Amino acid sequence: MDKRAGRVLLITGVSSGFGRALSEAALLAGHTVIGTVRSEAAKAEFDRLDGKRAHGVILDVTDFAAIETVVKDVTGRTGPVDVLVNNAGYGHEGTLEESPLNELVRQFNVNVFGAVAMTRAVLPSMRVRRAGHIVNITSMAGLVTFPGVSYYCGSKFALEGISEALEKEVRGFGIKVTIVAPGSFRTDWAGRSMIRTERSVDDYNAVFEPIRRLRKEKDGKQAGDPAKAAQVLLDIIEHDNPPVHLLLGNDALGLVRKKLADLNDEIDAWESVSKSTDFS
Ligand code: NAP
Repeated sequence: MDKRAGRVLLITGVSSGFGRALSEAALLAGHTVIGTVRSEAAKAEFDRLDGKRAHGVILDVTDFAAIETVVKDVTGRTGPVDVLVNNAGYGHEGTLEESPLNELVRQFNVNVFGAVAMTRAVLPSMRVRRAGHIVNITSMAGLVTFPGVSYYCGSKFALEGISEALEKEVRGFGIKVTIVAPGSFRTDWAGRSMIRTERSVDDYNAVFEPIRRLRKEKDGKQAGDPAKAAQVLLDIIEHDNPPVHLLLGNDALGLVRKKLADLNDEIDAWESVSKSTDFS
């Protein structure tokens, strides 16, 4: 058992993928895991992972009004949350013009507002205790963009920005914030979980169709291993100086480095224009 085992982790979205892998690894390491799920069957399955330390709670993270009560209720049994992992999320796929606005609202409700609502539910207790760690799972799509997933990228960029600013607000209280941006991992993300908007504008065929086809073909064959990611996350919560930003996967590393280099080049190319707008 790990020397610092026995912490309470609250992980959203533990039915599959990263959330499930992290829950299993954390339970094995001796931690207590509160895991959010969305059905009685998923709760029963989660509870079976460990008779004492696996606490499944039914919660859709967009049920903002319920979050505080659910967290209060379960932490009454487990003790306060030491580590919150905002993992629940999904990808919307579709070009901006073809995708109705309500899909953007739904995407932000889950990926952004849900994560913020969960954070607001645990922050008061972490602040009073002057301890805690908030781990927000964003994506490489929160740092680089891809055509055909603009709503998803927008939601992950938003969570990146909110998390980065939050870190500056709470670091003085001893609360750590780590923003984890994975590349492509072998989870249910590109399969059952993805919301795919129906095609309606032929003009986008050339740019979008290969992307949709490739993502479907790649599903189940992604290079990223969620079990390895889970092990890394377990190590991160033990670290005295965990990173604020952490990329996971070679694809994320390559694409984010290229984005930063290109951005730097563009800033250099337009530097004189940027400098020209202050009062002289
Ligand atoms: P996954 O296997 O589809 O797992 C997603 C989890 O989120 C499921 O447990 C799902 O629950 C839950 N969830 C979705 N909407 C929810 C809601 N409204 N309320 C509560 N729970 C909800 O995919 P994953 O890859 O592990 O996804 C986890 C996180 O990683 C997401 O934020 C995703 O955007 C991010 N991510 C994934 C990848 C990748 O390549 N896999 C890359 C970068 C980032 P149900 O079973 O009830 O649907």
